This record gives sequence, structure tokens and C-alpha cells, in this order.
Amino acid sequence: MGIRIRRNGEVEKPDFAKAIPGAEELAGTLKDTFGAFRNGLGIAEATSSATCEGCGAALGGRRHETVRCDYCDRQTQLP
Ligand SMILES: [Zn+2]
Repeated sequence: MGIRIRRNGEVEKPDFAKAIPGAEELAGTLKDTFGAFRNGLGIAEATSSATCEGCGAALGGRRHETVRCDYCDRQTQLP
């Protein structure tokens, strides 16, 4: 996000910051809040589990990830 200095010395801010006073601070706060929220709830690394169709072993990983069973090498896509 570039802040340029005009010839007359006035600092030119991004349009959204001019339109809404405090928008930059708000955006920064929201970013921090979402980051903490995600980390706290584990949304960023959503996990899933399934049962191997070949041998019935428990499988785990990220959602929609295809995992290979350690016991029978069968691949199963997690829900
Ligand atoms: Zn298996």
C-alpha cells in the first residue's frame, strides 16, 4: 500500500482511508481479530476423519484430502 508524497508536500492516502476515517486502523484490527479467531477454532486447518474401506482402520487428515491407509495402501477421500 503506497503512500506517496505530492509535490505540495501533502500526504496522499489510499481512497478508502479518505472515505472512511479510521478505516486503516479498523482493517488492521479486523485482520488481527480474524487471525486469532481462526487459530483459536482451527478453521484454517479443518480436519476430517473416515474409516478405511479396505480394512476399517481409522483415517484422519484435512478435509477433502485424499489419504492413503497405512495398513492396506487403499486411498480414501476424507469427507
Ligand atoms: Zn486400510
